[in-house]
Amino acid sequence: MQPLEFLKLTPRTNCGECGYAACLAFAAAVTKGGENPRKCPYVDVSCLGEGGAPSEMGAGGVSGVAGLLDEKDKALVAHLKSKVREIDFSLVASKLGCGWSGPATDQLRFRYLGYEVTLSREGVFFGGKEVEEPRDQILLYNYVHYGGGGVRSGEWVGMESLPNSISKVRTLRVYCEERVAAYFCGKNALLRESAARIDGVFEDIAEQSCNVSFQVAVLPCLPMKVLFWDEERDEGFPPRVKVLFDRNVLAVLDLESLVFASERMAERLMELSR
Ligand code: SF4
Repeated sequence: MQPLEFLKLTPRTNCGECGYAACLAFAAAVTKGGENPRKCPYVDVSCLGEGGAPSEMGAGGVSGVAGLLDEKDKALVAHLKSKVREIDFSLVASKLGCGWSGPATDQLRFRYLGYEVTLSREGVFFGGKEVEEPRDQILLYNYVHYGGGGVRSGEWVGMESLPNSISKVRTLRVYCEERVAAYFCGKNALLRESAARIDGVFEDIAEQSCNVSFQVAVLPCLPMKVLFWDEERDEGFPPRVKVLFDRNVLAVLDLESLVFASERMAERLMELSR
């Protein structure tokens, strides 16, 4: 199913309840990214067929697309897991900013968006529970596989300043920045509460000339800076969010994982506010 086809199933009011700033962004996330169509309370999911598509829209469909993505993700998890098995955790732990549990259990331990993570050769665990979401596994295995990167530049830049990032800038905006802006519009205090729960460290907003500013170590060597400007209705300015990265961030993770890490941060901020 194409995004515009799914869009027809929404009321197109751009109310933001699904966590996306616009119905079109939600439709794209459902049909291209495997997002759950039930996140829009106004979509009649009963008209989605067995494959997830309305019967008159032909083959494929929402869950068909999601299913294919799922298979691709699972294959990537298996590949990365085998790569990580070759790594000596005791040697890379400090470069990754992780703790190492010692030779008996041989696990890496670190924080990720408020979760206590244990990563071993058997799998990835949050608070002792095995992680099922393949995209979280891909991100965390990838992080370990990259080995922690090099020295930080200390300079914050937007994704558009990173090399070969043109196609990712829009993805970051739709899946992360616009979602957070729409969700926390008029809710500065709630955003601060959620940010604190993922270990956000607040900055001087006067200096940044915004309403909320915080730094968060999404992974030990992956800091992000989030700037939030609330809506100014009288002036006609919508709410806005900008996510910044260290200029050397691509030594820590690839672009794709970076966008996903940003998307997960957005989801955690919203989830922890409920
Ligand atoms: S919940 Fe999302 S998709 Fe549904 S009407 Fe609101 S903005 Fe559109």
